[in-house]
Amino acid sequence: YAQSMDVLSSQATVGGYRSVLNAASHMGKFFPMLMTPAGTIKPATVLVIGAGVAGLQAIATAGRLGAKVEAFDVRPAAREQVESLGAKFLYMDLDDSAETDSGYAVEMNDEFIRKEMELLHDAAKRVDAIITTALIFGRPAPILIKNYMVNDMQPGSVIIDLAAENGGNCELTRPGEVCKTDGITIIGYTDLPSRMAAQSSQLYGNNISNLLAELCPEKDGRVNVNMEDEVIRGMTVVNASE
Ligand code: NAD
Repeated sequence: YAQSMDVLSSQATVGGYRSVLNAASHMGKFFPMLMTPAGTIKPATVLVIGAGVAGLQAIATAGRLGAKVEAFDVRPAAREQVESLGAKFLYMDLDDSAETDSGYAVEMNDEFIRKEMELLHDAAKRVDAIITTALIFGRPAPILIKNYMVNDMQPGSVIIDLAAENGGNCELTRPGEVCKTDGITIIGYTDLPSRMAAQSSQLYGNNISNLLAELCPEKDGRVNVNMEDEVIRGMTVVNASE
């Protein structure tokens, strides 16, 4: 139920959606398969790295535009969610320590990241767009796309690095900027929700109003700091001078 008050989730949903539209407009290729009298166009292939809130929205949006979508996440539980959206989960032998009991990802060791980069390098050679969202809360973003991987991508491909604000998942990302190298475009926008301001604000407002309703459960509008409530306890700094 905390999701209804979770601002990071609502804004990541907007960011995930918007990232795919940015990929589509910078790519110069169709997303869907087209069968025309002039010939058949193959669908674009999109790789999404990190299947959390933003990643799952990106997978769904790219799928709705007709792309073939592949995705990877360190949390084994993400596989089912990715597949339920009709995307292909890239499989790697996982250490079962990739996820905490409450479902959050834990930081991976260097050996794991090295194996992951091999998997992603193979994928990078054949995809038209990469959307990266990999992050462990409170940590710098892991670098997963190195320069040599970008060099091996097909000319005209695009990388949208949603983790730009936390340093980026791609070595070449410059936060807030669009840069081009050898025909590959790397987009590090950090303000995707602001690019859809009206609805981001609407969702943000709903989050705050749901939070206030949790804090004032009675109709008389009195604030009830219910310390049994996990959300209220988590945001309380001082209660009754304690
Ligand atoms: P989230 O925690 O729900 O998802 C992050 C996912 O990354 C998790 O599923 C985690 O398991 C996965 N992950 C962690 N390390 C990984 C690794 N090494 N390889 C593959 N997957 C890995 O977070 P979210 O809410 O979806 O946000 C994702 C990112 O998007 C964050 O960096 C957030 O700041 C950013 N964001 C950016 C914008 C923007 O405007 N650029 C807007 C909203 C959110």
